[in-house]
Amino acid sequence: MSATAPASRVLISEVGPRDGLQNAHAIMPTEAKRRWITALAAAGLSEIEVGSFVRPDRVPQLADTAEVVAHALTLPGLTVAVLAPNARGAERAIAAGVHKITVPVSASRAHALANVGMTPEQSVEALRAIAALRDAAPEGHRPTIEGGLSTAFGCTLQGAVPEDDVVRLAVAMVEAGADEVGLSDTTGMGNPSQVKRLVRAVRAAIGHRLSGVHLHDTRGLALANAFAAWEEGIGTFDGSLAGLGGCPFAPGASGNAVTEDLVSMFHDLGVATGIDLDRLIAARAILAEALPGEALHGAAAKWRSARVAA
Ligand code: ZN
Repeated sequence: MSATAPASRVLISEVGPRDGLQNAHAIMPTEAKRRWITALAAAGLSEIEVGSFVRPDRVPQLADTAEVVAHALTLPGLTVAVLAPNARGAERAIAAGVHKITVPVSASRAHALANVGMTPEQSVEALRAIAALRDAAPEGHRPTIEGGLSTAFGCTLQGAVPEDDVVRLAVAMVEAGADEVGLSDTTGMGNPSQVKRLVRAVRAAIGHRLSGVHLHDTRGLALANAFAAWEEGIGTFDGSLAGLGGCPFAPGASGNAVTEDLVSMFHDLGVATGIDLDRLIAARAILAEALPGEALHGAAAKWRSARVAA
């Protein structure tokens, strides 16, 4: 199979408990997070980003990440991922026993400074320090490290992000110790032909280490962009149940790609996800109850309920 053949099975990685909740208006109680993550795993999601190890005064919604990780680790077969922007956070993540750490590196200098208070180059150095911590951990406690290349398709603060910057940073992250690199459309500015072009350019530079895409639906293009990436051979897609989330440091950015809609599209294409769409949609009830007033997005869920009503 050529490296660019579309996958017959894809990994849908849920980021709602991290990316979604960090931008929610209310703080979800830990008990509801546990129920939500349990329901997501029971629906067949095999990888969930359950929180982040950042300063709790900066992101109070995720202050209970260690507790949430401890619960998620009890769910059989689940890859438990967290976000950690620096060595201090990664130390806590490794101590908590996570399987995977995503280290954000922004391709936009303006976004990098606003989001993590570091230049892109300093973020790469943070990733190098995190990889060293991982390598020093005892066997069986060495998480996979993914470099999450945010604002790869454009930035609301900086405007266009040169593709050369994205490729250069992807190479630098792999050189610094990232096992995988994901491309994030943090602000939802990407379009399908841009996705194809950038996937090809980054793959030419780092090959199979380009693993996935993280798309936002700010302008309604998340599914079109996911399809474009899939056609280029990308096999991992981040999604957030009900499209929860956005980015507080990227003004104007709204929700993540809707997990249910990604699953629905891939099933229609005959691509396996291992996920039970009905059970996934049912898990939205936990969000509705635990985050009153929060907007729940998603066409697949609305279409289902309309069909049931008709
Ligand atoms: Zn996101």
